Amino acid sequence: MGVTQPQVLKTVEECRAALALAVAASDAEQPVIGLVPTMGALHSGHGALFQAARRRSDVVLASIFVNALQFDDPADYEHYPRTVDDDVAFMGAHGVDLIFAPSLEEMYPGYPEGPLVRVSAGELGRRWEGASRPGHFDGVATVVTKLLTISAAPAPARLEAWFGQKDAEQLAVIRRMVADLNLPVTVCSLPIVRDENGLALSSRNQRLSESDYDAALNLSRALSRLAERAGSRRALGVGQLRAELRRASAVELDYLVVVDPLTLLETTPGDGHIGVDGTVQAEVLALIAATVGPVRLIDNMFLRPPA
Ligand code: AMP
Repeated sequence: MGVTQPQVLKTVEECRAALALAVAASDAEQPVIGLVPTMGALHSGHGALFQAARRRSDVVLASIFVNALQFDDPADYEHYPRTVDDDVAFMGAHGVDLIFAPSLEEMYPGYPEGPLVRVSAGELGRRWEGASRPGHFDGVATVVTKLLTISAAPAPARLEAWFGQKDAEQLAVIRRMVADLNLPVTVCSLPIVRDENGLALSSRNQRLSESDYDAALNLSRALSRLAERAGSRRALGVGQLRAELRRASAVELDYLVVVDPLTLLETTPGDGHIGVDGTVQAEVLALIAATVGPVRLIDNMFLRPPA
């Protein structure tokens, strides 16, 4: 992996012009543009996406934009870590060619009045994270639609966009949006990158104290326990696990649920996913969200029956 000097583009016009040049310069018959949207404050989870995009694309475009529209809590938006200089160096070291880093005004002229027209994530956007953070997935759907349109591949190129399984509901919303609106992009995803103790990497982890960090490990441990039970044909016992988490004083549990990976609807015993005895019959997804210290954390894990 060579260290490249990525070009930083501030405006939509610059971004489109740079993409057109890069596509024209490519020898490939049908060049692939790999887009990796991020909000910056990068870590190895983002790094894995850049590297995967690098392997499959002729031009790798990554964006850095803290999307005001997807924050329902102004304090969360204000405190979201912003480390643009480090991010540019990190992207360069991970094979990114072009960086789109627009200002709030460039993306949403006249904000907060604008944009007047937004994309709705519909029903899917109101479940779990969407219920706890009203408007969050509409904000995600709006910014992702804009980023996809801005990076629309000039013919004969085609566009692939990369997202992490870390934000499982986001991924489900984006896949559904791309299908429902016939957006000309292939959605690609990667599994969650975790630290050595199992904590899912997140830009928000920077704000955890040492004791918060220890408490935060309860999230991935709870998910692992469910995965173990699913894999050994035991009843999941989600209710009992939820009660245990609620007793752990340093963790303020919002939800721990087992859902259908496509519809995000909660599974119930006897519905084909979960047997009447509470065992997992077909692949399901466990979602968890909790506040630990000053941050809200989310995590998820697929639960599968034994092969
Ligand atoms: P963010 O900057 O948090 O908006 O994340 C940008 C992209 O990186 C999203 O597609 C996330 O799902 C993905 N991502 C964030 N953390 C991880 C992780 N620990 N493992 C895999 N992907 C991640």
